[in-house]
Amino acid sequence: MRIVSGMRPTGKLHLGHYFGVIKNWLNLQDKEECFFFVADWHALTNKYKDTSDLKENTYQLVIDWISCGIDPSKSTIFVQSAIKEHAELSLLLGMLTPKSWLELNPSYKDLKFNLFFQYVRDFLLGKSIKVEEDTLRQIVHDSFYHKREVDFEYLEKGLVDLSIDANLVKEIVFNLKEGDIGKDIDTFGFFGYPVLMAADILIYKAEAVPVGEDQLPHIEISRELARRFNHLYKPVFVEPKALLTESPKLLGIDGRKMSKSYGNTIALSETEEELNKKVLSMKTDTQRIKKSIPGRPEVCNVYTYHNYFTDSQTVKDIYQKCTTAEIGCIECKKILAENLNRFLNPIREKRKELEKDRQFLDKVILEGNEKAREVASKTMKEVRESMGVMF
Ligand code: SF4
Repeated sequence: MRIVSGMRPTGKLHLGHYFGVIKNWLNLQDKEECFFFVADWHALTNKYKDTSDLKENTYQLVIDWISCGIDPSKSTIFVQSAIKEHAELSLLLGMLTPKSWLELNPSYKDLKFNLFFQYVRDFLLGKSIKVEEDTLRQIVHDSFYHKREVDFEYLEKGLVDLSIDANLVKEIVFNLKEGDIGKDIDTFGFFGYPVLMAADILIYKAEAVPVGEDQLPHIEISRELARRFNHLYKPVFVEPKALLTESPKLLGIDGRKMSKSYGNTIALSETEEELNKKVLSMKTDTQRIKKSIPGRPEVCNVYTYHNYFTDSQTVKDIYQKCTTAEIGCIECKKILAENLNRFLNPIREKRKELEKDRQFLDKVILEGNEKAREVASKTMKEVRESMGVMF
């Protein structure tokens, strides 16, 4: 089965990426024909103003992949912008994409919401107003999706600094307009990115695409576009199916979703020192304020991590010792840091090696590009012929 999957080059990968994407790719590359690409054009859809790190991020992404075990002799690793056929197909598919498919695309709306939320949060922080994250998310959500007035009492509870006038915050949140963020992402490129994504997939006649649940609408657009094209012209495209991947249960070090925008990630390239510091700062069971109080591993983020990185016997011991107050959180974290370092060491070593060998990376990318181009240009020949676009 042919698989296509890509990642945007937005910086170094973290553990959330490893367990959410890479681990799945490692399984797939042993059984299927895999095309993995650096989606550098997609990185431009909301970050087109400053492109100074795009090339370096592309290298860093490929370094991360190979360091984690993605093997160029098994998988085709390539860079999207090197295969111009993606752009041509995206343009042609755009001709037959109803605007409503894109307007209704839930991830378009969600991404807009997230950007709006970040904008409001930064705006308030700029005025030294701190609102508890969940509260702010909820009130911004009400204002963004339902155009509802901010719930005053709810907001008041979420104010971190109680000397701040909640009325003022309420006014600011309600009066900030979606359009205030809009300038950056109110672009044709951002609006149409699902069409480019469909082109990325369809051009390889991929039979399956590994995705998280939030990406399902994109696959649906790709399938619909394949059907529409095949019906209007000739049956060129394969309808790709979604290979649903489980979203990782690993949270960030502060217990929220692991995300670079929260600054709570553990990067795969983290040094031992940085990692130890991060693990020691991890949130644990909030009720366990001293060692003599028995802990609740089931609500502790550190314990969840142990389930990923520590052997099962030690995990059992930790559970028992935590619930009977025989082990302190610092000791428990030190065990985790040691195991996490053991997990990351081979990745770090491979990284170091690759960092020094750009020639090898260029070779991998060039060879991958060639393989990808061969398939893509064949499909485009069929597309042009079917549509009668021959000149
Ligand atoms: S001992 Fe470990 S599992 Fe228990 S609360 Fe502390 S960090 Fe969490």
